Amino acid sequence: PEPAILIDVNDLSAFYGESHVLHGVSLTIRAGEVVTLLGRNGAGKTTTLKSIMGIVRQRQGSIKINGLETVGLPSNRIARLGVAFCPEERGIFSSLSVEENLLLPPIIQPGGLGLDDLFTLFPNIRERLSTRQGTRLSGGEQQMLAIARVLRTGARILMLDEPTEGLAPVIVEQIGEAILALKARGFTIVLVEQNFHFASGLADRNYVMEDGVIVEMVAREEVREKAGLLQEYLGV
Ligand code: ATP
Repeated sequence: PEPAILIDVNDLSAFYGESHVLHGVSLTIRAGEVVTLLGRNGAGKTTTLKSIMGIVRQRQGSIKINGLETVGLPSNRIARLGVAFCPEERGIFSSLSVEENLLLPPIIQPGGLGLDDLFTLFPNIRERLSTRQGTRLSGGEQQMLAIARVLRTGARILMLDEPTEGLAPVIVEQIGEAILALKARGFTIVLVEQNFHFASGLADRNYVMEDGVIVEMVAREEVREKAGLLQEYLGV
């Protein structure tokens, strides 16, 4: 049998004030999958993640997480369902040390990774632990710290918004390896990406967004045959 559906989004609309940004998004994320949201700037990828997380509060339609309807719930309730969101801007605090940044979020449920596991996954973080300002880290290290921080909390569904943006190829590769290691440990990962080659190399399935709707779903086995179509959508 197929793994259980953890996130089930149906006919989702989302708004910023008067501005209607998502127009009926439907998607499913199954336990243990790596799923990407691809699409051009402004397609609605970030808004989809923020809607699932409850950060965008103005939404209509249905977002079930583990079977529970979450439209209407605040983001702190949604976080307690084991869902975490790493924003594009990473959210590392300059007033806190690397260690303080790492230890900041409360543990929400059992099953989080301990420090030894986190350091195995992201060796750079151990070396930089005593750095006084979190923002002194390189962009790649800040990204790793942002991911490590939520892994401690016990979240089992990770939503990562453009984790590789602006990073050197060698760091992108390390983040890709970490994502695959997390998948191997049973985490479920939703990835917003501009870097199509990086994303499609990791993903079980790829959703393509355009103008606030999903226009295509491409499974791993179809990426090669649909490469031309994907390039058209993504403008790469
Ligand atoms: P990007 O890669 O640029 O983040 P995206 O696919 O993630 O693109 P979104 O950030 O979800 O796209 O944006 C979707 C639409 O919503 C865009 O037209 C954007 O201008 C608009 N938008 C995003 N955030 C806000 C906001 N806070 N207020 C008003 N409009 C917004």
